[in-house]
Amino acid sequence: MAYSIGDECVKCGACAQNCPMSCIKEGSSKYEIDASQCIDCGTCAGVCPVGAPHA
Ligand code: SF4
Ligand code: SF4
Repeated sequence: MAYSIGDECVKCGACAQNCPMSCIKEGSSKYEIDASQCIDCGTCAGVCPVGAPHA
């Protein structure tokens, strides 16, 4: 079960900078996680200022 990023995302980029798998990329309206590479570590949720990444 991969993490996914909700509409709360304010595109700060912190999650992408800290993801150990480098599987978060900037999308048109929010950042997006490549579920096929996510290892469920939770780092993105820990660094996000608005709680957008959800397990
Ligand atoms: Fe990257 Fe970990 Fe977040 Fe998955 S849970 S997107 S591996 S930081
Ligand atoms: Fe969006 Fe949170 Fe990632 Fe920043 S850390 S880009 S607000 S999901």
